[in-house]
Amino acid sequence: MTQLVYNFAEGNMNMRDLLGGKGANLAEMTGLGLPVPQGFTLTTTACHDYQVNHQLGQELLHQVDQALEQLSEISGKRFEDEHNPLLISVRSGAAISMPGMMDTILNIGLNDKTVAVLAELTDNERFAYDSYRRLLAMFGNVVYGIAEDAFDQVLTDIKTQKNYESDLDLTTEDLKAIVAEFKQIYRDSDKGEFPQKPKEQLLAAIRAVFESWDNQRARIYRRENQISEDLGTAVNVQEMVFGNAGADCGTGVAFTRNPATGENKLFGEYLQNAQGEDVVAGIRTPQSVEVLATEVPQLYDQLQDIAKTLEQHYHDMQDLEFTIEHGKMFLLQARDGKRTPAAAVKIAIDLVNEGLLSKQEAILKVKPESLTALLHPEFDAETMAEHPVLTTGLPASPGAATGQVYFTAATAKQASDEGHRVILVRQDTSPEDIEGMIVSQAIVTSRGGMTSHAAVVARGMGATGVVGASELNVNYAKKQANVGDQLIEEGDWLSVDGTTGNLYLGPIETTPATIKGDLSVLLEWAKKFAKLGVYTNADTPRDFQKALEFDADGIGLTRTEHMFFKPERLLQMRRVILARTAEQRAEPLSHLLEMQQADFYELYKLAGDKEVTIRLLDPPLHEFLPHDMAEIQEVAEQINVSVDYLTERIDSLKEINPMLGHRGDRLAITFPDIYQMQVKAIMTAVLRLSDEGQIVHPHIMIPLTDSQTEMGWVRKLVTDQITEMLADKEITIDYTVGTMMEMPRACVTANQVARESDFFSFGTNDLTQLTFGYSRDDVGSFLPEYIKKGILPADPFQTIDVEGVGELMKMAVNRGRLTKPDLPIGVCGEVGGDPTSINFFEKIGVTYVSCSPFRVPVARLAAAQAHI
Ligand code: ADP
Ligand code: MG
Ligand code: MG
Repeated sequence: MTQLVYNFAEGNMNMRDLLGGKGANLAEMTGLGLPVPQGFTLTTTACHDYQVNHQLGQELLHQVDQALEQLSEISGKRFEDEHNPLLISVRSGAAISMPGMMDTILNIGLNDKTVAVLAELTDNERFAYDSYRRLLAMFGNVVYGIAEDAFDQVLTDIKTQKNYESDLDLTTEDLKAIVAEFKQIYRDSDKGEFPQKPKEQLLAAIRAVFESWDNQRARIYRRENQISEDLGTAVNVQEMVFGNAGADCGTGVAFTRNPATGENKLFGEYLQNAQGEDVVAGIRTPQSVEVLATEVPQLYDQLQDIAKTLEQHYHDMQDLEFTIEHGKMFLLQARDGKRTPAAAVKIAIDLVNEGLLSKQEAILKVKPESLTALLHPEFDAETMAEHPVLTTGLPASPGAATGQVYFTAATAKQASDEGHRVILVRQDTSPEDIEGMIVSQAIVTSRGGMTSHAAVVARGMGATGVVGASELNVNYAKKQANVGDQLIEEGDWLSVDGTTGNLYLGPIETTPATIKGDLSVLLEWAKKFAKLGVYTNADTPRDFQKALEFDADGIGLTRTEHMFFKPERLLQMRRVILARTAEQRAEPLSHLLEMQQADFYELYKLAGDKEVTIRLLDPPLHEFLPHDMAEIQEVAEQINVSVDYLTERIDSLKEINPMLGHRGDRLAITFPDIYQMQVKAIMTAVLRLSDEGQIVHPHIMIPLTDSQTEMGWVRKLVTDQITEMLADKEITIDYTVGTMMEMPRACVTANQVARESDFFSFGTNDLTQLTFGYSRDDVGSFLPEYIKKGILPADPFQTIDVEGVGELMKMAVNRGRLTKPDLPIGVCGEVGGDPTSINFFEKIGVTYVSCSPFRVPVARLAAAQAHI
């Protein structure tokens, strides 16, 4: 017989897949002797059964009954007993934590009779009815799908009518009236009466949790976080403890360290006389847990002890949920806490220093992609001093963002799709808003605390966040917000500082971030544990300088054509292209030579003893020519030819499919003098540096090659030029000539191509384009649909297509190394900076990756993780 139900006392933390994260941790904490209200967990296997059969099976019902029986014994109360009722919560919990995505129902077991009994037993009628109205609202929403608003409106109306400030002002009589109105909502919604039988409540709640796995917001969250659809959720049934039974009660959430900064100090929020979701829902703005330190120090100490115990046990920062019932502490949940990227880095390093983690483990704790948030621009302190602060909220998630304001997730999403930088401004957020939050530069709310939904999600995504900016009035109906008489309308610019919590009207310039402190320590460790080298793609000294600040190993790809687009060079380039004979080309080429050698000189100088790989000219020539008539006339005049002549030349260079046309080393076959000029420029720079005492080993890369013979021909062109230049010199210069592997044919014949190559470097952009037969420049019109419809798992230009393009790469690596066992092999396409792809490159034996400067730290961390 399959065991479908486990008591908390039976499970442990290694049973996540079966019991879900929450269930496994409740079991683990029970084992640790922590004060956890007892209960049991229905397994994910039970969830799968339900998904197949659409009903709760006999065996499951039987095991639930047994578990309820055991819980009665432990608690001394009985479910369905009208004199001493056991009240329970039903809580979802998947193997991977999905905050706020699934549904929870509290106070199950209450009905018209037991509410009175509870009132009598506790001598607290207000509390009993407060609990009952919560059950009615949660059950109505979760099980029957009645809009939460319907219930909220009743509360809001009474509070407005009676001029109450918060839920705490509601009297017993008010709560009784609310209960009556809530029941009426059930009747009005055609769902009939609220079920009075506790057992019926329980089973309906279990079914609802199983079904909530498939609700839309859960699916969006899974898609966004690449969580498998097949996991399913467990259900936890747990004895209730009450934070809403008086002033010596309350509920809170705490992090064992500060989730925004990583500071090693208990951090959290507490709401007196409140239950469950009150804290995170942002209904009342909670107080810091530190109030406990002054008001009930022994409880604060106990919470700190619990935090310590948990960290020592889990070796990570924990996020915990607790409730205090009449001065007694209960722990309701613990899990690894979500944190900002900055906090993640600090915590990882602190935990190593505290002896809780090894360096390797610490490296694995930080998501490579999250580092991009740390490399995001910041507001520059001087600029900020000139801007008046509009208002200040809580600094929920650090970073600096500037963008246009939208008040709903839908409008934010739309504006972002249209290419706007978006700031989402709301009173508060809920899981329904997730799509709008994902696209926002920053999230701002007027209500809620540091652990509100908005704050948690912003930190999780690495978006800038300011919450609880209480001076900010947000009016959804008018699409406006205001602070006093300062008005913000939809589309207005707002700047948000998530580190201080300040908001500013208008756009504000940001300054680039630098690597310092904890991040530099982490990256140093990463460098030590990585095998793959991490180079940068850089076409200008400025790019290269940035990459060097990020500790790039050198340049993996310099695209020389980008150097030709400056006006005076473009002119010379056009003269080269428009010439009819080699003689005519010679003069403009000599000007280009001068300019290119200066470029290369600068790059080599910056590089010092780091390697620089320069790729010779790649794009089709017509890219350099003027396109419209006005431009054609201007150019004709500039280079002193007739418009007719120019038009005729442009026409003759036109190609039906230029990206598959006359470009790359095909240009070298037809116009050898262009490549010769580039090699001359490289060697001139090298020799100049040699005179100055710097030894440079140039690496020259040939684009678009597809065969050994072709590579051999171009290689000879290059080496002859070099030999000629060194002929009358005393010195020898070591250099390499390598192949850009981007043609499927070159990959297939890599053993041959390697004979003429000193290195390979995969140009994955072209290789992907040619393997799929997708034009890189035209995929926008259909690729998104492929991803949406699940035909492709991801954009293959962003993440390597392992099965297809990856297989070709693997073949090329293996065949290339058959010829030359030590052949250095790089990757210099877009995917060179993508963590998932990097993991694959490590596996197939690539030597180094090369990516844009800002991806260098991400790639470094990913490379270390791939090797650990
Ligand atoms: P989520 O996964 O969305 O955080 P939970 O299942 O953790 O949902 O429930 C939300 C909150 O409900 C908890 O943080 C806790 O405050 C409250 N809660 C759940 N079960 C109980 C219980 N048995 N007794 C008291 N409060 C509970
Ligand atoms: Mg929870
Ligand atoms: Mg290419």
